[in-house]
Amino acid sequence: MQHKIYFTPGPSQIFYTVNDHMKEAFQKDIMSISHRSATFQNLFAEVKADLKSLLHLPDHYDVYFISSANEIWERIIQSLVGNASHHFVNGSFAEKFYQFATDYKKESTITRMSDGEDFDNLEVPENTELISVTLNETSIGYAFDANSIYQLREQHPDKLIAVDGVSAFPAVPFDFSKVDTAYFSVQKCFGLPAGLGVWIVNPTCYQKVEKLRKNKVVTGSYHDLLQLKASGDKNQTPETPNVLGIFLLGKVVKDMLFRSAKLIQNDTTYKAALLYQAIEKSSVLSPFVARKTNQSKTVVVAKCEGGNADILARFGEQGWIIGKGYGSYKSDHIRIANFPVHSKEQIEQLTDYISKT
Ligand SMILES: *Cc1c(COP(=O)(O)O)cnc(C)c1O
Repeated sequence: MQHKIYFTPGPSQIFYTVNDHMKEAFQKDIMSISHRSATFQNLFAEVKADLKSLLHLPDHYDVYFISSANEIWERIIQSLVGNASHHFVNGSFAEKFYQFATDYKKESTITRMSDGEDFDNLEVPENTELISVTLNETSIGYAFDANSIYQLREQHPDKLIAVDGVSAFPAVPFDFSKVDTAYFSVQKCFGLPAGLGVWIVNPTCYQKVEKLRKNKVVTGSYHDLLQLKASGDKNQTPETPNVLGIFLLGKVVKDMLFRSAKLIQNDTTYKAALLYQAIEKSSVLSPFVARKTNQSKTVVVAKCEGGNADILARFGEQGWIIGKGYGSYKSDHIRIANFPVHSKEQIEQLTDYISKT
């Protein structure tokens, strides 16, 4: 049987080197080594350093390996928000993060844009401690303009800024020095099996959690930021971590460094342009996000006239698994992942076919 190619927006096609890296993990007994051993500490240090180099993270930023982006949402609310955060919501994932804040009874506020449109204003209430932005909204393929984030930084030097880059990093360029915390999980652009979330923080985040603790705010226990830091400073984790996941991430980061982030980002732009062109040409598809600057480069979303059942089935016959719409758009949209694993040749074949639908 013909092998399938997953163009789903996460989990997605597994990065093509992972098969070999898995074999190496077995050969090196990676799944049996102690997480308190020097071998693990060296692994942690190396993956952290390589990731910092791939993403061009400032030197004083730290990186923690926890379980998912969902977990990071909870950790951010626990560790970095006393009373109120403000959430720019451009789709379902951003909305879900806001839900964590309300579950924790924070007086958090929200600016919603209407789906696929744009934010009318980027105002933030005075009492906001942390501003949340979703750089690439995977649910509807809406990209938040990075320049607007840099503007928020200038306007609010005293507030923390948190960026969800789950389906953007490292395929989309971003200046991490403009934000205090950012995060992703590995089953999107890194092409890895799910089960690892990567949390990036700067020292301002430590100051914030220390201040909250001084004021007797409960900042959590499991994976409390200061506990992560105490372990991380020794290149360790508080719990027995997903060592295999960390190992595989390190290997794929090295593969990506070899190709260079710049090249990956340029390829992403090129392939995205092909996809949007093909969608414009198609008689039944049209881009869900109309404004070009806000069209996601990594998750291309199109409306399907008459529903998506037929197109999903026909792509399936070619061995191409593409994503359904998210939530209420389940049967009206298609979502096509354009991740680093997806080659120009694969995208060209796909777009040939799309233009004819
Ligand atoms: C997938 C996704 C998440 C959730 O990631 P998990 O690893 O499932 O927690 C959050 N935000 C965005 C933008 C996503 O695409």
